[in-house]
Amino acid sequence: MADIIDGRAIARQLDEVTTAEVTEIVAAGHQAPGLAVILVGNDPASEVYVRRKIEACERVGIRSIEHRLPDTTSQDSLLTLIARLNADPEIHGILCQVPLPEQIDTGRVLGSISPDKDVDGFHPVNVGRLSTGTGGIIPCTPLGVMKLIYSVVDDLTGKDVVVIGKSNIVGKPVANLLLEAEATVTVTHIHTHGLPDIVRKADVIVAAAGAPELVRGYWVKEGAVIIDVGITRMEGENGKTRLVGDVAFDEVQHASAVTPVPGGVGPMTIACLLSNTVKAARNAYGMNSGVSNAIAEDDKRTMFTGSGNRPN
Ligand code: NAD
Repeated sequence: MADIIDGRAIARQLDEVTTAEVTEIVAAGHQAPGLAVILVGNDPASEVYVRRKIEACERVGIRSIEHRLPDTTSQDSLLTLIARLNADPEIHGILCQVPLPEQIDTGRVLGSISPDKDVDGFHPVNVGRLSTGTGGIIPCTPLGVMKLIYSVVDDLTGKDVVVIGKSNIVGKPVANLLLEAEATVTVTHIHTHGLPDIVRKADVIVAAAGAPELVRGYWVKEGAVIIDVGITRMEGENGKTRLVGDVAFDEVQHASAVTPVPGGVGPMTIACLLSNTVKAARNAYGMNSGVSNAIAEDDKRTMFTGSGNRPN
């Protein structure tokens, strides 16, 4: 039987570290880290995500400041709000929930958030820093994926890792982090030929396709580690819906370890958001002793298993 990697438990451990860091910030005489959460319109899924993030902030002692705007909000007024939050020393992280209404250029808006406060790690400056291994804020889901891998793998040097999916928010940043960890990385996508044969070579599989149960048992090498990022809501029995991952969970029991869906990557994403917010606050308060967070120079394992993405 494959070990189940308990994302909820690992997320709780990270939250404990984050809570301790908030306490340390306050004990040093600073205001607790502040996260501005912007929600434009009333998309039901976004409402749920935002509520969960705000509740999570409360759990670890981060101040969350919610900005709810109507779905008729103009791009200019959203940009004005972000400019104000960028300049506000009491705000350390800015999160603008996507999707945004169609009159708003999402790229323009996300690009207007100060890279230092971009706790989602989507700003092109942070993307560039990640791909050059020069620090910056690491996007939450990819950071969570690395922490889950390192909960069962000591060293990724030379390991064959296959990433399924090449999106900007999961596949590509995960691939960059894995390269920084000295893995041999193969990135695959919808147009990849012979995917089962490619996946079968992998020591570690990161599935982020959004294709329910795409990865079958016969695709998986004995003893591989599987991180299932995919989440698809599907019709279950009695008209109830259930969440399904990208991996046929029951077929991969010859793997050494696998994340469940739900309860794997999902809980890590919010825990990493909180960790990133504290990291941004520590940087703003000069508490990271000028450390650049350069990925290439870090002890990789400590970086992902320790307190968020901050070198010890
Ligand atoms: P996306 O749609 O932007 O990208 C999907 C990628 O997978 C694309 O590169 C596509 O080419 C590839 N792909 C799709 N079907 C494929 C197939 N059959 N074979 C090979 N490649 C295929 O999606 P995304 O935003 O990267 O999200 C991927 C999945 O991860 C979704 O299920 C999403 O819900 C989930 N997700 C989970 C979390 C979390 O917190 N757990 C966070 C982000 C995304």
